[in-house]
Parts: sequence; C-alpha cells; structure tokens
Amino acid sequence: MSSTRKTKILCTLGPATESADAIESLIRSGADLLRLNMSHASHEWTRAVYARIREAARRIDKDVAILMDLTGPSIRTGDLDTPWQLKVGDEVELRISEDLPPSIAYSVTVNYRYLCSDLKVGDTVNVDGGLIQLRVERIGEGRIVSRVLTQGEMRSRRHINLPGIPVRLPPLTQKDYTDLDLGVELGVDFFALSFAREPGHVQHLQLLLEQKGSLARVIAKIENQQAIDHLDAIVEASGGIMIARGDLGSELPVEELPIIQRHIVERCSYHGRKVIVATQMLESMLENPVPTRAEVTDIFNAVIEQVDCVMLSGETSIGRYPDKCIEVLDSVARRIEERYPAGRFASDAPLKTNKHKTAKAAIVLANSIPGSKLVTFTLRGVMAHQLAHQRPERAPIFAFTPNLHVARILTLARGVQPLQMAFEKNNPEANIRNALQILRQRHLIEPGDPIVILSDALYDDTNVDAILLREA
Ligand code: PEP
Repeated sequence: MSSTRKTKILCTLGPATESADAIESLIRSGADLLRLNMSHASHEWTRAVYARIREAARRIDKDVAILMDLTGPSIRTGDLDTPWQLKVGDEVELRISEDLPPSIAYSVTVNYRYLCSDLKVGDTVNVDGGLIQLRVERIGEGRIVSRVLTQGEMRSRRHINLPGIPVRLPPLTQKDYTDLDLGVELGVDFFALSFAREPGHVQHLQLLLEQKGSLARVIAKIENQQAIDHLDAIVEASGGIMIARGDLGSELPVEELPIIQRHIVERCSYHGRKVIVATQMLESMLENPVPTRAEVTDIFNAVIEQVDCVMLSGETSIGRYPDKCIEVLDSVARRIEERYPAGRFASDAPLKTNKHKTAKAAIVLANSIPGSKLVTFTLRGVMAHQLAHQRPERAPIFAFTPNLHVARILTLARGVQPLQMAFEKNNPEANIRNALQILRQRHLIEPGDPIVILSDALYDDTNVDAILLREA
C-alpha cells in the first residue's frame, strides 16, 4: 500500500475531542485538518481549543490546518416551554413574531420574516433535518398553519429547511461577523461559509478577510437548490466547496443527492477548486466501533472520484470512537487509492495557461515512471495546487514552501504533503539538496527513488518553470 494517503481527512472537534490529549490522538491517527463548528462553540472554547491544536501539532511535528465553520443565516424555530410529541395529522402554527398571539395549541415563532410571502399552500417545511415534515395548509397574516406528515419530538430552536424555496437571507449574520473577527485574530486557515447561495456571498467574505489582513481561504458550503442553481459561479469564486449533505438532504429529494455530489465534484475538478465531502460518512460509528458496509461504499465513492477531502462531524465531535473513525477512513482511502490510481475527472481539467501545461507535463512524466515522487518549490502555492488539481496517479506531491500559511492551505489539496523550508536565494541546487535531505530524514523517499522536480522559484526575480528528473 502507498505510504502517503492522498485523500485528506477533516475532523470536527467537540466535547469528545476537545482535550489536548484527544486532539493529539486525532492528529496522530491521521487528521489533516480540524474543524471548529461555530454553531456549537463559544469564543472561550474556540480560543482554548485553537491553542491546543497548534500546540499538539508542534509537539508531534505534523502541521494541520484549522477550518472555522461559520453558522450562517439559518432559519430556526423559537423557544417552547416543553417539547411537543407530534403525531401525523396534528396542526402546527408558525408565526413570524412574538407579538402575534398563538391561534392553536402547537404554535411557535420562526425567525424568517418572509415566511408567509415565500411559502404557498402545499409547500413542505422540514424541521430538524427533515425528522419532522410539515405541509403548509393555510397562510394568514404573519402566520401559517401546517399539517404534520411525519411524527416526531419537536424541541426549542430547531433548524428549518424550506425545500426549493429561494430564501431571502443575508450572507452572514451579526454572530458570524463576531466569530469571523475571532478567527482572523487567531489565524485560522479556512473559513467555511454556510448557506452560500450566490457567488457574491463568497466574494463578500473573501474581500472582508483581505481587508482584515487574513490570508485564509473561503470554503463555500453547498446546502440548497439556490446554491446548485449558481454552482459554477460559486465554485469559481471560492477556494473550495463543502458538499454539506446534511442540509442538502433536507432541501432536495434524497435520490438527487448522489447525482448532485457527483456533479459538484466534477465542477470542482473542472475549475480546479478543492472539494470536501461532508456528513454522515461514518454516522453509525457515533455508537459502534465498526462501520456499516454501506458507509465503506460511501467512502469508496468519494475516494474513487478523487475528492480532496472527506469530513467527519458528530463522529469525532461527540462520537464514542473518534480515532477509530479516522483509522477506517485512512485504511479504506489507502486501499482504494492503491487499487484505482487513475481518476475519472482529472483528464477533463482544462489546461488554460502554460503553468497548467507544465504541471501536466511533470505529471505525465511521473505517471510513466514507477515509484516516482513529485517535488515542487512554491512561494504562493500555485504550482502545488496545479499539480494536485491534475491528479497524478501514484506519485505523492511533496510541496516545499518557506511560507507557513501556504503550507497550511496546501494540507487540503489531494495528494500534497506540504513541507515548510527556508529557500536559499539564487541557489536552486541547494534548495533541491535540502529538500531531498528532509525527505530522506522523514523516510518519505529512499535512495534511488526517481524524483520529478517542478519549480517556479528556481531564480530569484526570474519566473522560470523547469522540470527535472533526478534520483534520490
Ligand atoms: C451539513 O449540513 O451537511 C453540514 C456540513 O453543515 P452543518 O454541520 O453546519 O449543519
């Protein structure tokens, strides 16, 4: 089996994994990126956990990237005095303001002021990820009355999806702006933008980050039909996409989900953007130490489509077996990468510039030489991203950069192992020698290995792209 796994693993931290020991253990097990989910995180918790991650990474000398997931503008129900046990056929009223008195027993407020104008009779309202389904029966002044289609327990502040309805919500809430400032101050590497529905939402956040002096990249979470309607433009505007299958599954017919997953992966591959498959990859391992057979096949599908990254949510934040989940992802991904090294979409990625063509030439060379490794020197990460986007078959990509933030951003790229190293000015040979020495010390290459070197920093002020074939 290959010594380096190409598919990256993103783990969500939570009560099960917030301690320094648990974080270290996740990183040792193979986590490449860690996610702070601001829907459940206080600022105090975020500060403490952020420091623990950086400390653990330093201790074991394996850098990881940190992704702050902004809550975004979700629609939620208000508070209930006690939970309701809803049965099929019950009526539930949704009111847009506390000032409107309830007109029936099951009545709750909803924080979406366009509810009555955006919905029509017969529309579906999904509560709590679709665990409770309501159908709109009557629409009145500031309230709708709906019929319960699936029984369930309704509690306070439940998440609401309005399938197929183009909702009118801002890109970010006041809470997101405050969380964003904390993320910038701490130095997180990625911000995930929940409910990104238009490219303008992504551009707004990216611009805000630049104004605040942050180098972080924006990952747009695709969660509803509106986002899918603008998919290409959102993909192009973002640093990458998260296929948020939880909300997507509540917003769209479930049979559409695998089709959309495949479509998003294909569009990301075409535009050369990162793609993360998220949610319920190992849901059964919240409670069980082994995955279901269907979950293994779900991982297979993501890996064979050569996504950059797979994500764990509850499995690592509140689950009983966080390390085991990573071990399962790690072993399944390695096995599939070994068995099926060639990708379906990589060959469609357009070669728009000479840099793309040079990267492709290096990959063709590496693919044709068994046991070869790709090495690149990159100041801004461009060459390493280009190589990753064109999906070399077996060769790992060792990306050397003097910039810590570039190294961290590259942790998300499929097949890339970033390594931070100071560059010697005007001395490309010394850089190559130093890089090979680091790779030997870390047992990442062995004497005699064929090394395909691609550099865009060979000469100080002259931007020369060169491909060299060397022996380790
Ligand atoms: C999802 O909906 O699948 C998702 C990843 O988003 P969140 O966990 O923030 O609801």
